[in-house]
Amino acid sequence: MKKILLIIIVCFAVFTFSSCINESKNVTRQTFALDTVINITTNKEDSERINEAFTLLREYENVFSRTKPESKLSLLNNGQGELTEDIEKVLSFSLEMSRFTDGAFDVTVAPLVDLWNVKERNTAPTAEEIEIARSKTGYEDVTLSPFSLGGKTIDTGAVAKGYIADKVAESFKDKGVESAVIDLGGNVVLIGEYKVGIRNPFSPDEIFATITVKDKSAVTSGAYQRYFEYEGKRYHHIIDPRTGYPSESGVASATVISPSSMQADALSTSIFILGKDSISLCDNFPDTEALIIMENGEVITTENFEEKYELKK
Ligand code: ADP
Ligand code: MG
Repeated sequence: MKKILLIIIVCFAVFTFSSCINESKNVTRQTFALDTVINITTNKEDSERINEAFTLLREYENVFSRTKPESKLSLLNNGQGELTEDIEKVLSFSLEMSRFTDGAFDVTVAPLVDLWNVKERNTAPTAEEIEIARSKTGYEDVTLSPFSLGGKTIDTGAVAKGYIADKVAESFKDKGVESAVIDLGGNVVLIGEYKVGIRNPFSPDEIFATITVKDKSAVTSGAYQRYFEYEGKRYHHIIDPRTGYPSESGVASATVISPSSMQADALSTSIFILGKDSISLCDNFPDTEALIIMENGEVITTENFEEKYELKK
């Protein structure tokens, strides 16, 4: 399902923001992978790199997808296959995040994600179903050395797109690409400097504010694109494993900017679940800032956010 939380203004409103890279020299290509819409922009002379990136994305899909039964992660979840280097890295970081957030971020949340299945459901599961699924989660049972999932099922949906975006950016830089926008459904990595629009979570076709970001990743988590409504209530895809229900922290969207897209991805999901006070989680990561838009319209940022990223509303 489509989820573009951040709009790269340089692609869609280049005339409004003429300080950005020269449009006539750029090429943007789109594909669908990792269950989302992918847009990659580079200079025209680097356009072949985009095709290579798309191939890389398909390879990663065969590693991390939970909908593909033959992916490395699916095999692992079924007690087959080996812990690959990529999965080990994502799993190791995810377990760290789980500890940091005291289980609000939980890489073993799969049974709850599957139960809530917001893509297909249009009614809420019963309290009993939720309790059963909740009892099957628990990151504490997963160990890396020796490796054991402890009977749990891994879901890297909140962190793998960040990891993969970092990998694409790394491959671009290795090949001398000096300017690019890698947008994996709102998990954005910028090589060079760009103006980026943060979506208005209350009116997602509109931009809430713009920021100027250079050589970093910007990632937003929100409840406005993957959800269903039942009896007047919105049920979205980010689950609070402590309750078993979609999180209700009062956050409408959480945007994190960091040198690491994997960290930004995991942090934006964590802050979305934990609420505004958890913005201080950013202090544990180098050069990492966040902007939270609350459901009541309140906007909260880390201390240096506005100045560092020229926030303009
Ligand atoms: P998106 O995948 O839409 O970009 P997020 O990065 O916030 O959004 O991740 C949401 C995905 O993470 C869900 O679709 C699900 O696969 C997984 N997930 C849901 N709740 C949690 C949680 N509490 N901890 C870790 N992963 C979660
Ligand atoms: Mg995330």
